[in-house]
Amino acid sequence: MPLTKKQLADFEQQLTAWRDELEQGQHENMHAMHEQEQSAFPDPTDQASVETDRSFDLRIKDRERKLIRKINQALTRIKDGEFGICESCGGNISVKRLQARPVTTLCIDCKQEQEQEERTRLD
Ligand SMILES: [Zn+2]
Repeated sequence: MPLTKKQLADFEQQLTAWRDELEQGQHENMHAMHEQEQSAFPDPTDQASVETDRSFDLRIKDRERKLIRKINQALTRIKDGEFGICESCGGNISVKRLQARPVTTLCIDCKQEQEQEERTRLD
């Protein structure tokens, strides 16, 4: 069953709020990192732990950036009327699945198939 206008509007609102929240976090991280760079660390042990923290931060930020991109793509799909349609088979993605994972582009069947394929390739 295709999504109703109301459902689409809800998803749009939810995705936009989620993206704004992530972007806000990215901004704050940038600011914190900038301040860290300006302070001196005479103790080499401190310096090492700062480096570790930073690479951890960067990994998280990288994941967040990718997620923001996916959210933007989902918002574009809402505008184009393609949201909730499986990229692979063209069928409808269930609302339950979209609610759990609104950035998904595959229905559960195609997702499972893809995972199956990935597993087979690894073997
Ligand atoms: Zn599908």
